[in-house]
Amino acid sequence: MTADEFRHFGREIVDWIADYYATVEKYPVRSQVKPGEICDLLPGSPPEEPEPFERILADVDRVVMPGITHWQSPNFYGYFPANTSYPSILGELLSAGLGVQGMSWSTSPACTELETRVLDWLIDLLGLPESFRSTGSGGGVIQDSASSATLCAMLAARDRHRRGAGKTVDSTGVLTAYASKDAHSSVSKAAGIAGIGRENLRTIRCSADRAMDVTDLRDQILADRQAGHQPFFVCAIAGTTSTLAFDPLEEIGSICSEFGLWLHVDGAMAGSAAVCPEFRFVHAGLELADSYCFNPHKWLLTNFDCDCFYVKDRNDLLEALSILPEYLRNAATDSGLVIDYRDWQIPLGRRFRALKLWFTMRAYGARGLREHIRRHVAIASALREWIAADSGFEIVRTPRLNLVCFRHRGGDEINRRAMEQVNSTGRMFITHTSVDGQFVLRFCVGQPNTTLDHVRASWELLASAFHSLE
Ligand code: PLP
Repeated sequence: MTADEFRHFGREIVDWIADYYATVEKYPVRSQVKPGEICDLLPGSPPEEPEPFERILADVDRVVMPGITHWQSPNFYGYFPANTSYPSILGELLSAGLGVQGMSWSTSPACTELETRVLDWLIDLLGLPESFRSTGSGGGVIQDSASSATLCAMLAARDRHRRGAGKTVDSTGVLTAYASKDAHSSVSKAAGIAGIGRENLRTIRCSADRAMDVTDLRDQILADRQAGHQPFFVCAIAGTTSTLAFDPLEEIGSICSEFGLWLHVDGAMAGSAAVCPEFRFVHAGLELADSYCFNPHKWLLTNFDCDCFYVKDRNDLLEALSILPEYLRNAATDSGLVIDYRDWQIPLGRRFRALKLWFTMRAYGARGLREHIRRHVAIASALREWIAADSGFEIVRTPRLNLVCFRHRGGDEINRRAMEQVNSTGRMFITHTSVDGQFVLRFCVGQPNTTLDHVRASWELLASAFHSLE
């Protein structure tokens, strides 16, 4: 492709994206294809000869689009959102254009320093503890996902514990970690990868509000100590995936301090709400945490992937993850004056992700980001009232922020069938969870273009599906 062709097709793709956002509602929200259908549209072997780019682009509409579930539809309410915005998309494009691999400060100083500064900005923006700031002993880094952040936290905690126990990181011994029954599955995955063993991740009971029961946490830590095990890590969730419950960080933090455990807090989606001072309850007690992560790629207008991961003491992370083979040696690293973010993550290489976050934060400003969050919370609150006004339904748990969990009183089957019915219309998309063994619907308001009218129309569609099944 020549530079002129690149300009031409680049403009065409940007136009295509703008048209996509303008018309996204014409597509069925959930892809309607069956397994294998997209694969069948693709040749079994790669092209031998170069193909004209027009033909490749045409295949986006023909081959790719039928297999897209439209996370950017304003009628998408499933899981947690995956936000995008035009400034962020442009940041991604520029990152691809620069083609930087920012493993070390010296491989592109701007890639590192912009990231450090933007992560420090977020401390101000969200009211995060000062101990996370890079100008002290802490610091923030962009990871691909909350799962990676949790794994890094667990590795740092494991090695800190073993150093503290006067052992080498290679020594064996039953280390035990703790997370609530409703903690994200990434904690269990991390325990497996970190060599702790999934069986040594203790499941802590949830109290009636689905938050971690701290009495059970304490009891299980004590029982493990008595059995000669080595409790070392707790993962608390600030906004669980299932019902957006908030583990009590202050109480968990004080137990961690008492027994010398690392506290990692996962604020994957709800963490973004802290841009609004009135929603900072989401991380009350966070100053007791050793590490924290949240995903601007969920609810802060920044494209996937972008997880912000903070540690109180960056040396703990560096002890666990630093590497310096001869071929990466350079004067800047040797000077000790720079950050090499390869030592703060699992892979060596890294993308220039800070660009999209920087573009987003500047293009919206703190005010724009707050409006984005507040709008969704207000819409979810209206939805909650509509549901509560219909005696056929019950709200499950006190809803917070932008997630409403509810169920029809008629039992699991009608809820499952109504969900499948509305999702198969393509006009909206919701998902479910299980609470105390019951099938519960989750309606999460978080796509940037979702309005009150979208949610009202979707609720009416859902309510009528229920009424047709009653
Ligand atoms: N933690 C929580 C609380 C989540 O809700 C999710 C995803 O929804 C994750 C972790 C995993 O996020 P990621 O895809 O960034 O690993």
